[in-house]
Amino acid sequence: MANKKVRGRFAPSPTGPLHMGGVRTALFNYLFARKNNGIFILRVEDTDRDRCVQGAEEYITESLKWCGIEIDEGVPVGGPFEPYRQSERGEIYREYAMQLIESGHAYYAFDTSEELEQLRNEYERDKKGAFQYDAATRKNLSNSLTLSEGEVKCRLTSGEPFVIRFKMPENENVVFTDKIRGKMEVNTSTLDDKVLFKSDGMPTYHLANVVDDHLMKISHVIRGEEWLPSLPLHILLYRSLGWGSQMPEFAHLSLLLKPEGQGKLSKRDGERLGFPVFPLEWKDPDTGELYAGYREEGFFPEAFVNILAMLGWNPGTDREIFSMQELIEEFSLERVIKSGARFDPEKARWYNHKHLMMKPDRELAELYMDVLKEKRIEVSLEKAQNIVKLIKERVSFVHELWVESYFFFVRPENYDPKVVKKKWKEDTPSLLRQVADVLSGVEPFEASVAETAVKSYIEQNDVGKGRVMIPLRLALVGESKGPDLFTIAELLGKQETLARIEEAVKKLG
Ligand code: GLU
Repeated sequence: MANKKVRGRFAPSPTGPLHMGGVRTALFNYLFARKNNGIFILRVEDTDRDRCVQGAEEYITESLKWCGIEIDEGVPVGGPFEPYRQSERGEIYREYAMQLIESGHAYYAFDTSEELEQLRNEYERDKKGAFQYDAATRKNLSNSLTLSEGEVKCRLTSGEPFVIRFKMPENENVVFTDKIRGKMEVNTSTLDDKVLFKSDGMPTYHLANVVDDHLMKISHVIRGEEWLPSLPLHILLYRSLGWGSQMPEFAHLSLLLKPEGQGKLSKRDGERLGFPVFPLEWKDPDTGELYAGYREEGFFPEAFVNILAMLGWNPGTDREIFSMQELIEEFSLERVIKSGARFDPEKARWYNHKHLMMKPDRELAELYMDVLKEKRIEVSLEKAQNIVKLIKERVSFVHELWVESYFFFVRPENYDPKVVKKKWKEDTPSLLRQVADVLSGVEPFEASVAETAVKSYIEQNDVGKGRVMIPLRLALVGESKGPDLFTIAELLGKQETLARIEEAVKKLG
């Protein structure tokens, strides 16, 4: 076992857009595989044709790509165990379903869905608990364990619909270990005879999943905890197929919880609280409804990956900011927690801010220039870089840069009335005119030179800082907010600075 090659897989069903919890499962598989010099596989589990949604597979591959999760093998890159789309592997599953019938671990069942529905209703009516197809009930139902061999053959050859069910052993303790949850034990008397294969020639999830994990030599199955109840069945399937000694190891990840901390994080929570639940925007092909995506909301992929990694895993220290490479180096299943991980949208913004601050100014400036271009504003890279340097501390997203910097490009039309009322006094116009005089003599027109000049004017004339600085900010920005005032003036340039002072004096009188 020690030197077994690590082969992990992400095995989504393309039934819709990938929830962020699904992306986290993919990420943990990827980190684990990379950390152990293993292979990360993408297998598409699309045997339930009725539930497959158009565009979902492409959505999944695009999401992984955006996150920087590289697929070594599988859809769409191919590999030694092709095909990796289960709908193209029907014949393989049929063979193993037959093997299970022959070895007595499975049987044909002919009961129609109407008959089973009726039984369910009867059980409910008679308060006999929920009906289960199992060791107790199978004896009285229509299957190859109760019908004669001839009858079964006849039904099969005449094309009567059937399913193949697993013959769950009676009263057997299945003991297994989950890498996150430890040792567990389940008695088979609580389990039913699950359908493994349907008459449409397709396997169900359970058979296809076990067969493929075996054939694709998967060493570790890391998936959501909703699959934990299926694990005893999967273990029995491995054993029944003669693969009991080559089972993968299992790790079931806990749920992502609502911001309030109770219950699974759902699509509705995103709508209710205004944050995305999906990595990329998704338009429902049936309803046309549009769901927000982290990418479109302005999250950096590396921030999104960092957010997901910290939901349920911790490095064992206080450190919170990681790049993908650093996560790969640090990741271990031993540090994945058993309890649910509460998603905090505010914290998600904080992660994006931290990753934004780590970006080189030049890269941010280029992204900022794209925002400006949309507003038909052209600036030099140098100016964009200077502005970005000044305001990046104040934003979490590239699109917020505009909110903090529009005044560099647009003269104030209005002045914050509250500030005007409090700070614009009778003598303000004359004071500002004098400041304008001082500024017009500043050469070179740089922040530090302008600051020294204005400050010495304030001192020499004993006018008080607040009486000058706040009206001056009002004149340049229109509000009392913003970064260092003299740096703003420098970036505006002397001419524009003086023009804005003049305009404010004129407008506010
Ligand atoms: N197709 C299953 C899903 O959609 C995969 C579960 C597993 O990883 O075994 O989640």
